[in-house]
Amino acid sequence: MRIPPSHPRRESLLARERLVEGFREGYVVPQGLIAHGRGECFDYLLGETTIPPALEAERAAVAALLLARHPVISVNGNVAALVPREIVELARCVNAKLEVNLFYRTGEREEAIARVLVEHGAGEVLGVGSDASCTIPELFSERRRVSCRGIYAADVVLVPLEDGDRTEALRKMGKTVIAIDLNPLSRTARAASITIVDNVVRAVPSMVKLARELRGASRDELARIASSFDNERNLKEVIAYIASRLLELARRGGILLYSA
Ligand code: ATP
Ligand code: MG
Repeated sequence: MRIPPSHPRRESLLARERLVEGFREGYVVPQGLIAHGRGECFDYLLGETTIPPALEAERAAVAALLLARHPVISVNGNVAALVPREIVELARCVNAKLEVNLFYRTGEREEAIARVLVEHGAGEVLGVGSDASCTIPELFSERRRVSCRGIYAADVVLVPLEDGDRTEALRKMGKTVIAIDLNPLSRTARAASITIVDNVVRAVPSMVKLARELRGASRDELARIASSFDNERNLKEVIAYIASRLLELARRGGILLYSA
C-alpha cells in the first residue's frame, strides 16, 4: 500500500501496515490487531503526540532502568512489529536483557519474534522454548512462563503493551513494573509502578534518546528522578490533559485536530 508523504496520519497508517505484515508472517496475533485499535482510539484523544506527563514518565522509567541491577524488557508480537530496531537499541542503552513473552504462546511465534529481534541487532533473546521454565505465581495464561534468568529474576521489568493481570502479578513479586499503555484507565495503567501513556512507536525512541542523555548522570541524580515520580499523580495529569484538550476541541472545532 502506498501512503502519500503528506498524509496527516501517515505514521499511524504505516504502523497498521507493519502490524498487518507481522500478522501475515505469523507472529502478530489477531487479538494484537484488536488491541492496537484500542490503543489508536486513545492516541486520537492525546493528539497523537507525546504529552508532557508521558515525557516525565519516560524519564523516570529510563532512570529506573539505568539504576536496576537486573533490568529486563519483555517483547510481544506487536512490539516486534512496531519497534524492533528501537527496542533492541533501548535494551543496549540501559543494559537490559530482552525476553519474548507471549499471551498466546507457541514455539513458532516465540522463534519468529526472536528472529526479528536478532535481525535488528539483538544478541541474546530469552524466553524461547525450554528457556521459559520459571513460573509467575497466580497467572493462568501462557504468559506465566518466563525465563529464570530474565523476567523471573528481574528487579525492573519494562512491559510495553501489557495485560492488567500480569502487571499485578509482577508487582506482587516485588518488581518495579514499567508499562507503556495508551489507555490511562486500563488495569495495566493503574497497576504499574510507572505508566507511560504514549504510543510505543513514539515512547521507545524517546526513551532511547533519554537513555543517551541520562547515561552520564550520577546514581544520586537518577535516584532523585525515579523517586520523585508519582504514578497516580501522573495518571491524573494525563486524564486532565485529555479532558482539557477535548473541551478546547469542543469550543474551537476540529481545527486543532492535527496540530500539536
Ligand atoms: P487491561 O488488561 O490492562 O485492563 P485491556 O484488556 O484493554 O486492558 P490488553 O489487551 O490487556 O488491554 O493490553 C493492550 C493495551 O495496550 C490496551 O490498553 C491498548 O490501549 C494498549 N495499546 C495498544 N496498542 C498500543 C500502542 N501502539 N502503544 C501503546 N499502547 C498500546
Ligand atoms: Mg487485558
